[in-house]
Amino acid sequence: MNADLHCHSLVSDGTLEPEALAARAKANGVALWALTDHDELGGQSRARAAAQAAGLPYLTGTEISVSFAGTTVHIVGLGVDADDPSLAAGLAATRGGREPRAREMAAALAKAGIAGAYEGALKFVTNPDLISRTHFARFLVESGVCSDTNEVFRRYLVEGKPGFVPHRWAQLGEAVGWIVGAGGLAVIAHPARYKFTPNEEYALFTEFKAHGGRGVEVVTGSHSAPEALRYADTAREFDLLASRGSDFHSPEESRIDLGGLPPLPAGLTPVWEALEARIHAPD
Ligand code: AMP
Ligand code: MN
Ligand code: MN
Ligand code: MN
Repeated sequence: MNADLHCHSLVSDGTLEPEALAARAKANGVALWALTDHDELGGQSRARAAAQAAGLPYLTGTEISVSFAGTTVHIVGLGVDADDPSLAAGLAATRGGREPRAREMAAALAKAGIAGAYEGALKFVTNPDLISRTHFARFLVESGVCSDTNEVFRRYLVEGKPGFVPHRWAQLGEAVGWIVGAGGLAVIAHPARYKFTPNEEYALFTEFKAHGGRGVEVVTGSHSAPEALRYADTAREFDLLASRGSDFHSPEESRIDLGGLPPLPAGLTPVWEALEARIHAPD
């Protein structure tokens, strides 16, 4: 099944409206879709309504920023109740750190000779609660400092680079707990991105499961084909359900379009088999 269970709208750091994403997913042959904005559920009712009207089965979703072993890890929540008060409070608290962090990032960039980055990033922000590194990246491309957002991240916005500011996000157990408490299924997003040592990765998967996490993204826009096979093995080893999502942000910036991923490797149980009761059927 062409399930695409990870993408972003302009409610976080994507560039398209939820309705445009629903239409694009449908046009690209997606058969089950979830919008998973960072630390946000603000686009859920619009995404769900547009999907249902387009004849596209829908799962609610979000992608929560977590700090683990000194690294930022993303946990996707699928099939959550979008009105759950504890989840909403947890996401609001997580978002709350973004504004002060953005000001620190701008100060750090100013020291590196790039002035006005806070105001510059704000021009790209579409949700005032959700200023992200992506918005800074778009500003640095617009101002000609770099030629694309990948280059901005590589040169300025990752650990060890001048615009990177360490940040404390939610704890792993909190994020999984909010998702499970809201009736959803927690999934480790794009594990190959974290560059953990084997011991750190073992700790992440073990603690994630102990907190009630049940899935891992195996096929994602962030994984190469060998990485997908590697995390298929990890899914089997840890008895986790396998997820699939493009992580689409923008037609200009994203390498993989909605619905454009290869299938899950054989021998895995897809997350959607455990989420049937949570799927919003079309109108
Ligand atoms: P933040 O949540 O503010 O730390 O921003 C994280 C977001 O930045 C991710 O969700 C991606 O959209 C984007 N991102 C992270 N690393 C890269 C990269 N190397 N190239 C392009 N975008 C990236
Ligand atoms: Mn993003
Ligand atoms: Mn992510
Ligand atoms: Mn994402």
